[in-house]
Amino acid sequence: MFLEKVLKQILSISLTTTDPAFFILSGLVPVEAIIHLRALSLFGNIALPDDSSIEKRLAYRQLTIHGHTRSSWFSNLAIITTKYELPNPMEILMDPVSKSQWKTITIRAVYAYWGRRIKQQALTYSSLKYLSVDHYNPWKIHSFLRITETQTRSREVNRLPVKTKIVTSTYSMQSTRAAFNNLNVDPTCLLCKTSSETLEHFILHCTKLQHMRFQILHDIASACGENINFSQLCSREQLRIMLDVYSTVDVVHKRNTKYLAEIDRHTQRLCHALHCERKNYSHFYLRE
Ligand SMILES: [Zn+2]
Repeated sequence: MFLEKVLKQILSISLTTTDPAFFILSGLVPVEAIIHLRALSLFGNIALPDDSSIEKRLAYRQLTIHGHTRSSWFSNLAIITTKYELPNPMEILMDPVSKSQWKTITIRAVYAYWGRRIKQQALTYSSLKYLSVDHYNPWKIHSFLRITETQTRSREVNRLPVKTKIVTSTYSMQSTRAAFNNLNVDPTCLLCKTSSETLEHFILHCTKLQHMRFQILHDIASACGENINFSQLCSREQLRIMLDVYSTVDVVHKRNTKYLAEIDRHTQRLCHALHCERKNYSHFYLRE
């Protein structure tokens, strides 16, 4: 837990971010997966073709005498191989593969299992609807957390946390605060006082923030170019392009990382600018 907290701070991810969102954004894999890979790697060494080794003879003996009925390292290993749809330990002993083949097979199986599981878990959270779940790749950080060479590192480090909070629904809106605090919080936007403060209202419609968003929305539309007629899209689709461009564009444009990064860069600008202005207004509101 401590390590996860530190990693969230390093990656500018809110401490309240859900586990699936944390793994998708960071590209990290659960500790359980790493422990299982270590166990499978050790067993792969034991199962190498040399039948005369003491370790291999001991493995045969343990699996033959006790099978899966006794709690031992080998019976636990059988549980692990079943979990990742790998051959059972006895089959591996009798038909061993090379060390490099075993490494490739086990890494592929373990990462595929956790990839599926993390994506399935993420889909159960309605709060993660703007996070491209299919984007999860073990040991690859999510594209929108990457800072490209053309971006100013210090500036992007300030902007990133705001968009990350928005995408993972950990950015505090009046409407979500009202939902979680029942009758004690008014969902009405504190800035314009005309509508419930939802994400769509904050990013696209609040009249008090219009002067901050006008130019940046124009820049987003320019970055989208002819591929996406951004200004003609409905609010819901505009929001999805801005918050989840990596999963909303078609396959051809998904390969154009510069194109996607440019749209994402302007979205981060927008989120940060709106956040700063909202903060200024909120301070003013509290003084009134
Ligand atoms: Zn408003």
